[in-house]
Amino acid sequence: MARPWNFSAGPSVLPETVLQQAAAEMLDWQGSGMSVMEMSHRGRQFVQICDEAEADLRELMNIPADYAVMFMQGGGLGENAIVPMNLIGRRGAPMADFVVTGHWSTRSHKEAGRYGDVHIAASSALPTEIDGSARNAFTYVQAVSSWQVRPEASYLHLCSNETIGGVEFTEWPDLAELGAPDVSLVVDASSHFLSRPLDVTRCGLLFAGAQKNAGPAGVTVVIARRDLLGKSLPICPSAFDYANVAAEHSRYNTPPTFSIYVAGLVYKWLKAQGGVAAIEAANKAKADLLYGYLDASGFYRNPVDPAVRSRMNVPFVLADESLNDAFLKGAEAAGLLALKGHKSVGGMRASIYNAMPLAGVQALVDYMQEFERRHG
Ligand SMILES: *Cc1c(COP(=O)(O)O)cnc(C)c1O
Repeated sequence: MARPWNFSAGPSVLPETVLQQAAAEMLDWQGSGMSVMEMSHRGRQFVQICDEAEADLRELMNIPADYAVMFMQGGGLGENAIVPMNLIGRRGAPMADFVVTGHWSTRSHKEAGRYGDVHIAASSALPTEIDGSARNAFTYVQAVSSWQVRPEASYLHLCSNETIGGVEFTEWPDLAELGAPDVSLVVDASSHFLSRPLDVTRCGLLFAGAQKNAGPAGVTVVIARRDLLGKSLPICPSAFDYANVAAEHSRYNTPPTFSIYVAGLVYKWLKAQGGVAAIEAANKAKADLLYGYLDASGFYRNPVDPAVRSRMNVPFVLADESLNDAFLKGAEAAGLLALKGHKSVGGMRASIYNAMPLAGVQALVDYMQEFERRHG
């Protein structure tokens, strides 16, 4: 059975070999006589699965021992509340700063405002001009040197890949250089986690919902420097207090066992691909192919500042928007699924995560070329 190419932004494509292994082990995980779904989260088999997933992730990302790795529930939006409940009061007065570059960081800022005093350090919510080109809202990132970070804040939050706008940070700020050496960096890396090397030692905390690039829905990975934990607000639910979750190795209460297992299979798949550096090279080749085609075409256009274009989520519009429906219908018939852009930006979006091979992107470009030939 040939599977179609799935460009969904999330939940999204998984490596076929991972799905095959999960299917083969569905009824009997490695001679245990049980499905992973049926195992106690405290039994030796699941403890092995969970600890191995953590060890593989530590190896893939070079995560040092002074950082805790936690497999949690709640998703990215859950973390928008769980992070402030854990960190916003760690230095006394509850204060946190935000870099607002799109849909997801806007929501993070709004949610954190329920727990303390929040401030926007930088925003791309207004149109601007960069290098002589007009840029719409949320298609660029303000120069880091212009960010206004409050030195007393507990943390600075940014979303390092805006999944909807297609804006990706290629590097993170040095907060000491911004006059805020005691502010911790918090990164929502949900949609480019494990797509390129991310240096967790540059941040205090990084979180990622697995369902974009690194596994099935249901598990959210949180990586946090241990000295930041244990200072949660009194209202923080104990099951969401990082200090508890870290102390119990993600088994303070029942974790999403099956999702952790499948995420662990994805980590093993990544290691077999050659690790994060190798997958980055493949991701770069895919993105270069698609952006190269978009930029050479007068029929399609990507609106994002080239300096911050996402390698994972590629939004594009047709010059003639009245062709959108025909484009999507033809794409589906050609086995190219889920290309419709998010309703807030319209147009199209191709999410080309780790598990999307170059052949899938080539099939998309071939279809786009053919559509342009017929309608251009
Ligand atoms: C999808 C997404 C979220 C929200 O994740 P949920 O798991 O649906 O709560 C948050 N941040 C980013 C960057 C995302 O891509």
